Amino acid sequence: MLLLLLLVMILSARAYKNISIKSEFAEAIEQFIKENPQFGYRSIAAFLEDSSRRRLEELKAKETRLPRMEQINCDEDGVKILDRQLHRVVDVTFKPSGIRCNIDDADNCEHIKFALEQKDVQKIVSQKRKEGWKLPDV
Ligand SMILES: [Zn+2]
Repeated sequence: MLLLLLLVMILSARAYKNISIKSEFAEAIEQFIKENPQFGYRSIAAFLEDSSRRRLEELKAKETRLPRMEQINCDEDGVKILDRQLHRVVDVTFKPSGIRCNIDDADNCEHIKFALEQKDVQKIVSQKRKEGWKLPDV
């Protein structure tokens, strides 16, 4: 069999999980570890655990850099906003009587503030305002 699998034991809490990697990749790591003792790796498992932990931290840091709010779509009826802090989709609606956020049940929350900063929302809101809707001046 050309592709022998190596089982790597990775510590997780008090248990181990078996993960398979290609033998040629495992051999390359093993050779690197032998030729570079200054890095302090004693096993392939230790090397992979350290590598994966660093990658996980990198991706988590990237995830937290995403903005809290993101506009999903917008039309004459309102805006849908993804709120990453609340882990919810927020509906900000436009009506002749005014603007409203369904989460905060308010007309002046941070979702509305965010919505009114978006160019395409400003365009719709100012058009509807000209038509007599009670919307904020943007
Ligand atoms: Zn809101």
